Amino acid sequence: MRIGILGAGQLGQMLALAGYPLGQRFTFLDTTGNPSADIGQTLVDKNNTRLTEFLNQVDVVSYEFEHLPVALVSEIEQHKPVYPSSRALQICQNRGLEKALFTQLAIPTPEYHLVNSLETLQQAVTDLTTKHQKPVVIKTVTEGYDGKGQAVLKNDAKDEVADVWQRIGNRELIVEAFIDFVREVSIIAVRSQAGEVRFYPMAENHHVDGILRYSFAPLPNLNPQLQEQAEGYIQALLNELDYVGVLTLELFQQENGQLMANEMAPRVHNSGHWTQNGSVTSQFENHLRAVAGLPLGSTTATSPTCMVNIIGRAGDAQALLKVKGCHLHLYGKEERAGRKLGHLNLVAETTSELLAQVNQVTKLLPDAPAAKFSFVTKD
Ligand code: AMP
Repeated sequence: MRIGILGAGQLGQMLALAGYPLGQRFTFLDTTGNPSADIGQTLVDKNNTRLTEFLNQVDVVSYEFEHLPVALVSEIEQHKPVYPSSRALQICQNRGLEKALFTQLAIPTPEYHLVNSLETLQQAVTDLTTKHQKPVVIKTVTEGYDGKGQAVLKNDAKDEVADVWQRIGNRELIVEAFIDFVREVSIIAVRSQAGEVRFYPMAENHHVDGILRYSFAPLPNLNPQLQEQAEGYIQALLNELDYVGVLTLELFQQENGQLMANEMAPRVHNSGHWTQNGSVTSQFENHLRAVAGLPLGSTTATSPTCMVNIIGRAGDAQALLKVKGCHLHLYGKEERAGRKLGHLNLVAETTSELLAQVNQVTKLLPDAPAAKFSFVTKD
């Protein structure tokens, strides 16, 4: 089967690596001029002139990032099946639509206001800081990722609100109550064309400055009811969207154990890279099975696994691969500050063994922050 992927970055590369053994072949459509997938065939199309050529080469289309024009995806749907659908894409790329869907499906999410002027921003900040006695998080409604286009305000001081409006405003913003979470988690699920659904065990995600650094799964201290609750939330989203493929839901876990949805992504996700070495079927393979109309594979975890992102500088592969249970996934990119160059997955038989391996790797990776997990008790 010929798979077309919109976007040509590392997620596309890893999809293709998982799809080749299934007999799938890949064509990427890149509109940025900087493709890095470096596998299969890439059509660079900065002027939007190669869509027909792309469509002639593929049987089915998916995408590896959500900041795509919805109109483009709707147009492709007229000619070839697209999974996930343009409706899922439209909702996932707009925090306002996403929050409205969470609310409609009774999925708890931080209280929020949508604003589009300095005046309404000021009102929203005053309302939420007064009501919750907590800071607010302000985000752009579209196009923000990895913490970009975001600000945190501790109070409603006029000059600070005006400063945020200057910096990220002049467009629609969302103002959210700040959640004092004990940890950030994500659940990844996959739904087939036949409506079969499988869930991966939740991962705990450690972000620094809005960028994911570590994902740990399965969680050693996970209450099974919490996993079930998260599964219920993502199942509701999958059903409502008549979804096909992998969907990721990022959540905050509060002190009282309650989960709150932060955002979702209509694609394979960085917090699911651990599945390449720590589960029976990776998120990439399962996404492709869904997209190609094949039965899904088991999502059972095979061992405690920790994914460590390699950011900015790559470190020494010789030294990293000497660490027990280390699997390196490099994307073939040049080093640059803040750039995701690859990741590694560490697998072990026990959680304590795994934590020791993570510490070893952290020392070997330039600029890696210390790994912190909620289930590690401090001395
Ligand atoms: P996002 O782009 O929505 O994933 O936000 C990036 C990061 O900012 C999240 O991973 C959290 O660490 C933090 N964050 C976002 N929204 C909130 C919130 N309402 N309360 C507390 N922290 C947040």
